Amino acid sequence: MSSFSGVDYFDLDALLTHEQKLVRNTVRQFVDEDVLPIIKEAFEEEHFPTQLLPKIGGLGLLGATLKEYGGAGIDSIAYGLAMQELERGDSGIRSFCSVQNGLVIYPIYAFGSQEQKERWLPKLIQGEAVGCFGLTEPEHGSDPSTMETVAQRDGNYFILNGTKAWITNATLADLALVWAKLDGVIRGFLVDKGTEGFSVAKIEHKMSARASDTGELYLNDCRIPKENILGVEGLKGPLICLNQGRYAIAWGAVGAAMACYEEVVEYAKQRVQFDKPIASFQLVQEKLVEMLTEITKAQLLCFRLGQLKEEGKAKPVQISLAKRNNVAMALKIARLARDLLGANGITLDYQSIRHMLNLESVYTLEGTHHVQTLILGQDITGIQAFK
Ligand SMILES: Cc1cc2nc3c(=O)[nH]c(=O)nc-3n(C[C@H](O)[C@H](O)[C@H](O)COP(=O)(O)OP(=O)(O)OC[C@H]3O[C@@H](n4cnc5c(N)ncnc54)[C@H](O)[C@@H]3O)c2cc1C
Repeated sequence: MSSFSGVDYFDLDALLTHEQKLVRNTVRQFVDEDVLPIIKEAFEEEHFPTQLLPKIGGLGLLGATLKEYGGAGIDSIAYGLAMQELERGDSGIRSFCSVQNGLVIYPIYAFGSQEQKERWLPKLIQGEAVGCFGLTEPEHGSDPSTMETVAQRDGNYFILNGTKAWITNATLADLALVWAKLDGVIRGFLVDKGTEGFSVAKIEHKMSARASDTGELYLNDCRIPKENILGVEGLKGPLICLNQGRYAIAWGAVGAAMACYEEVVEYAKQRVQFDKPIASFQLVQEKLVEMLTEITKAQLLCFRLGQLKEEGKAKPVQISLAKRNNVAMALKIARLARDLLGANGITLDYQSIRHMLNLESVYTLEGTHHVQTLILGQDITGIQAFK
């Protein structure tokens, strides 16, 4: 069993089903036994720990909410709890799974042809194939509607040209879902690794998400069969996928915050200054109280969001609110924890700085904090303030 007892001040466990607890506890144990012992090295050496892939697939963490094609068919709350536990290990592990799930498996399932589904879903779900999602470009991040990547028809083929940047799983991927404009309309295209005219390069020297594989995709007259297009048109295609990703992030951020909180509570009780444990000082206790309060609020938010999602009622704006709140909350907690760890807190011997650095990426990716704010502002006022 996991040595981590969780942070559950309001007894949310009492609201979980047996299956939800089982999933959470299984992933918790996986993180303790398989992720935590190797994550420092993976982060330091800047690589995704691919040795975890068979177990990630075997545990049913890929395509987890699907009942077909070999998916585990777990519910939305169980899935959220799994993402929470994975990010308690590291954002890189959670983002590997949530990109594969929400941004690759989901669009193929929702918008793919029968042939595309049969070809890719079983392998992606088993962890035998890896996928990536190419939306962002070097010059087009928050505003993907202005993307430059284009597709042109050529008989029974499409020819793709363009560059995608900051793509999670890029160099690991057997399959890239590339968003490009066809006759001025955004469409999704499935590009196999090894296709002529398609290449990838790893982005080096990241100071965040170091245990995640991030790269660029280059499409130079890349010719793909015309069957490789997805059946969705316009920006809504990628945006629907991002809702899936943001849902996983909202839960994952709670896991990162829990890891920092647990680490710093233990440390504060042990660390003696001015003849007393630092946990005995009011200024320190206030910070711990603040952390626990914010984690508890975020957990309740996730739980309710999970219920809504399960009922098919979660609105994209509600998912945005949860992503925005929980990532900002986790980043603040990671910084507070790093502070209370003193100088020790700047080393990778403690988890908080790794989470703090990772969360800087999570704050930016899948819609920055500002972008979530603008989405919510528009919903409240009916006035868009993007431009
Ligand atoms: C580790 C990592 C992994 C990623 N993985 C993927 C992936 O798998 N696939 C993918 O397609 N992309 C991925 N991304 C890219 C990510 O989605 C983008 O970084 C994000 O959308 C922001 O785009 P940008 O970095 O170009 O920043 P910009 O859009 O240039 O934004 C820069 C700043 O300007 C602000 N800003 C922009 N517009 C406005 C506005 N209208 N009002 C107020 N402020 C504004 C932003 O909030 C931000 O603070 C990843 C990024 C990272 C860091």
